[in-house]
Amino acid sequence: MPSPESAGTAAPERRLPAAVEVREVEHVYGRGADAVAALGPLSLTVADGAFLVIVGASGCGKSTLLRLIAGFEPPTTGTVRVTGAAPVPGKGAGVVFQQPRLFPWKTAGGNVELALRYAGVPRAERPRRTEELLRRVGLHDVAGRRVWQISGGQQQRVAIARALAGDDPLLLLDEPFAALDALTRERLQEDLRRMSAETGRTSVFVTHSIDEAVFLGSRVIVLTPRPGRVALDVDVDLPRTGLEPDELRAHPRYAALRAEIGHAVRAT
Ligand code: ADP
Ligand code: MG
Repeated sequence: MPSPESAGTAAPERRLPAAVEVREVEHVYGRGADAVAALGPLSLTVADGAFLVIVGASGCGKSTLLRLIAGFEPPTTGTVRVTGAAPVPGKGAGVVFQQPRLFPWKTAGGNVELALRYAGVPRAERPRRTEELLRRVGLHDVAGRRVWQISGGQQQRVAIARALAGDDPLLLLDEPFAALDALTRERLQEDLRRMSAETGRTSVFVTHSIDEAVFLGSRVIVLTPRPGRVALDVDVDLPRTGLEPDELRAHPRYAALRAEIGHAVRAT
């Protein structure tokens, strides 16, 4: 039986190095009396094709962990490897932040097209790929609108399309839906779950919503308060494909996992 992490995604024969390897990492901001121990010691291996969700209280080091995986800075101690090598910012991982951070003077399509250009996609191919990506996030009808002419939820969809544009094997998402209304958030969760099953990309997703974690994750880790360490590490043994969102939420394992993760969060 395939593990939940590989079900419906990566071919099990593929023997790539683990997508993400965090080994004995600690991260401290500042020095001396001002030093803040933000993270660790923490070790973590994320398998190719997994959808890892990191949950924890505000300030426990979730964004720090994501930033280290993105290669924005090196850890104070320990090592981070992405597909076997030290991560390089902007290479190998698509990143989505809490705020969409789009180029406001460009159109929705223009933002995606720029990402394709950075990814080295030939000019002639970009319009078709842009349309494809916007269609995937349900946005092809607003391709020509400026960023300020579309809603916050639509902007966040553009940010996701942009992250997908690079064809990077890894997606890093830091509370991407936190600023959205409940309905938009639910819709984007469904889109992201479906897209991740379709593309088989490895994802690391930060949230403090337990429900979001169980819905999206193939695996969930709960961090302790700062400095964040792994308090719980659990495989989400729910089908990755074939269930409607409502069926998934009504699954008996869904409630059990919510309870287990909720308990761990409250116990930290
Ligand atoms: P989370 O994303 O879980 O809310 P962060 O990773 O952003 O937590 O931060 C973890 C801890 O490190 C917090 O106490 C935060 O105040 C501190 N921190 C984050 N970034 C910096 C920084 N650049 N300088 C100093 N302290 C920081
Ligand atoms: Mg954060």
